[in-house]
Amino acid sequence: MKALDELTFDNRFARLGDAFSTHVLPEPLDAPRLVVASEAAMALLDLDPAVAETPVFAELFGGNKLWAEAEPRAMVYSGHQFGGYTPQLGDGRGLLLGEVYNEAGEHWDLHLKGAGMTPYSRMGDGRAVLRSSIREFLASEALHALGIPSSRALCVIGSDTPVWREKQERGAMVLRMAHSHIRFGHFEYFYYTKKPEQQAQLAEHVLNLHYPECREQPEPYLAMFREIVERNAELIAKWQAYGFCHGVMNTDNMSILGITFDFGPFAFLDDFDAHFICNHSDHEGRYSFSNQVPIGQWNLSALAQALTPFISVDALKEALGLYLPLYQANYLDLMRRRLGLTTAEDDDQQLVERLLKLMQNSGVDYTLFFRRLGDESAALAVARLRDDFVDLAGFDAWAEQYKARVERDGEFSEEQRRARMHAVNPLYILRNYLAQNAIVAAESGDYSEVRRLHAVLSKPFEEQAGMEQYAQRPPDWGKHLEISCSS
Ligand code: AMP
Ligand code: MG
Repeated sequence: MKALDELTFDNRFARLGDAFSTHVLPEPLDAPRLVVASEAAMALLDLDPAVAETPVFAELFGGNKLWAEAEPRAMVYSGHQFGGYTPQLGDGRGLLLGEVYNEAGEHWDLHLKGAGMTPYSRMGDGRAVLRSSIREFLASEALHALGIPSSRALCVIGSDTPVWREKQERGAMVLRMAHSHIRFGHFEYFYYTKKPEQQAQLAEHVLNLHYPECREQPEPYLAMFREIVERNAELIAKWQAYGFCHGVMNTDNMSILGITFDFGPFAFLDDFDAHFICNHSDHEGRYSFSNQVPIGQWNLSALAQALTPFISVDALKEALGLYLPLYQANYLDLMRRRLGLTTAEDDDQQLVERLLKLMQNSGVDYTLFFRRLGDESAALAVARLRDDFVDLAGFDAWAEQYKARVERDGEFSEEQRRARMHAVNPLYILRNYLAQNAIVAAESGDYSEVRRLHAVLSKPFEEQAGMEQYAQRPPDWGKHLEISCSS
């Protein structure tokens, strides 16, 4: 276990030089204080969890203090936003403080979000408010606990610093961790600004640090691109299987590591709705729940375009062709497991699609349905769940198909079925209204609800005593909260 001053830095991205990032110091928050910390994320840095409660923790992660070895840098990138190319973006309100490596030799970027203005702030103030920082913190750690690759969050620091959004709010910072903060948009920036040398430097950096095994391949850059395609296909299959809606899948928010990245107006589905749009500012529904699948491919094509100086168009197209089949195979595999199936049959895709259509028409809670389906035998579970459906004849027909399928799958005791299904079907997810309750309390200075919710979501598959209220359908007021990009 380490104290805060014992972190070891090795700032590899900063060493790429000024073409890639700009040195900027964090702008301190007034009266910084700990809102919430993740013990699990602290463990990744070998940090003693007790240090979160010390004043110096809030000072370091509220931008008031800095390690001598940290080299805070604002990264430059660009990207396609809502389908259109924006020539220059960058860390407008975040800084890569440095890269820390732990005792296991893993490197972690420490990125402070909400750290003030940078050369890339455009019209923004460089700040993040408490509400969006709490949402990012909770989502990062909840996704990780669900087994969905994501950037991590070490802590949220609150403050007295006034920040103006639609109304006056207070500034906060979230300390984000990832093995890399390089986005598709980094490659696009150097491609569209016609800087082949820097682009090659960036590609070498990513290859050496994150895809070293691709060096062994005859075409290392192509192997790396293939790997990025595969990781994103697997990631998006998980989002779809678990009902996660990212909300702003611009190419500057897509990670070259295939992790969930840059949280804005995200949401987990309550009722199943394939057409759900979680981002209030997304008028066309470009990033609706079901569009995430083709948009994943669109974004990979944008990355492929930026890689044309290194890889032939034919090879890029072939690699892009891996995306959909891999997505479908991963998605179906996850959905089979959510249904408690251990074998594969040709009709399984249709079994899933029929169920989702019925859920859509009846507004069935996506998470609770699967959890309850595993509570007892297939026959008892479907009999109990039947009441949630409007189209009873439709549901009965599906239930017959499902029961027959379960029978062919093999003989398992009720306990075996429950254990297997509960291990993949969470009881607790980050529902928007739960986050909202925690935010309202935190805005009035009470951080206990954020901490409790974080603790519950860190074990989403395990029923926790006294936490029934976190495993309910949302109340009416909590069903259609409007979340926009203004964070
Ligand atoms: P996002 O939608 O959060 O991914 O941000 C898109 C771009 O706007 C990025 O370049 C951000 O750094 C920048 N940005 C977002 N919010 C702010 C802000 N409050 N101040 C400065 N830049 C911002
Ligand atoms: Mg972003």
